[in-house]
Amino acid sequence: MKRRDFIKSSAISLVASSSILTQCDNPIKKVKNDPIVLSTWDHGIPANNAAISIINKNGSSLEAVEAGVRVTEADPLSQSVGLGGRPDKDGHVTLDACIMDSDGNAGSVAFLRDIKHPISVARKVMEQTDHVMLVGKGAKRFALEKGFKEENLLTDKSREEWLQWKKDNSIKDSWGPNDEHDTISTLARDNNGNLAGACTTSGLAYKLHGRVGDSPIIGAGMYVDNEIGAVGATGKGEEVIKTCGSFLVVELMRQGYSAMDACKEAVNRILKKQSGKSDFQIGYIALRKDGQVGFSAIHDGFQYALYKNNKNKLYDVKGIG
Ligand code: ASP
Repeated sequence: MKRRDFIKSSAISLVASSSILTQCDNPIKKVKNDPIVLSTWDHGIPANNAAISIINKNGSSLEAVEAGVRVTEADPLSQSVGLGGRPDKDGHVTLDACIMDSDGNAGSVAFLRDIKHPISVARKVMEQTDHVMLVGKGAKRFALEKGFKEENLLTDKSREEWLQWKKDNSIKDSWGPNDEHDTISTLARDNNGNLAGACTTSGLAYKLHGRVGDSPIIGAGMYVDNEIGAVGATGKGEEVIKTCGSFLVVELMRQGYSAMDACKEAVNRILKKQSGKSDFQIGYIALRKDGQVGFSAIHDGFQYALYKNNKNKLYDVKGIG
């Protein structure tokens, strides 16, 4: 390259990089601090109620999201989270969860058995260790050391359904019907305008023993950046992991995308890899720092629960796939 060309191309890249810098400047300026809680699926309604009651007592967004998803974890009728979660192929309930606070701290557990509240174990990992993630037997031992109770999480209903699934499906199937999963992700903004997020699941029903999905993976199943926004995912975790889904949505919002467009773009990235069609579901929810809410899903059927302006309501999302 001649010197003149080099100077010209350096000047162009300087202009380009300064525009990238401008794009990366936080575009979200106006912040009102009214509390907002946003959760995936219909179990989001009671979770939002629990979260908002914490915020109304001036609790933090972190305390709120933990309290919110604990309601779902304890509900035996919620068969995709905590107690009563559908088991893996071998009949074991194995749980994944993660949590993030407004300082960017994160904690996570994966492939955890016999502990009803993985979200609270994840919080202890965040607050009482130098690590981010514990898995399997190590996570369980840690939980027991921290005083969590060991209990059987396989309810009669989930066990009977699993036995039926075994009868109806070929032993060659690696996992069952993929509509039998529904993680709860809860995102909250508290009275100080601070964001936090929690995500917890029993994962795909009848998954291979040892399978871990997106839900405990920071940046995949959930991500929080207190300057930009908080994002949670649900659906086929493998696809969310491969696209760093929740982190992607946050980064798109940083570049100036609306919460809605950022969620749609993240879904589109997945769809593109499937040539525009997919037989699985993905859903995203996003809460931007300024209170803007976004959501998107591949197929109809995804729902989110939003607490805003003193109302807690469930909304249907139209699929874009
Ligand atoms: N994302 C979860 C997983 O792949 C499942 C779900 O959200 O429905 O484990």
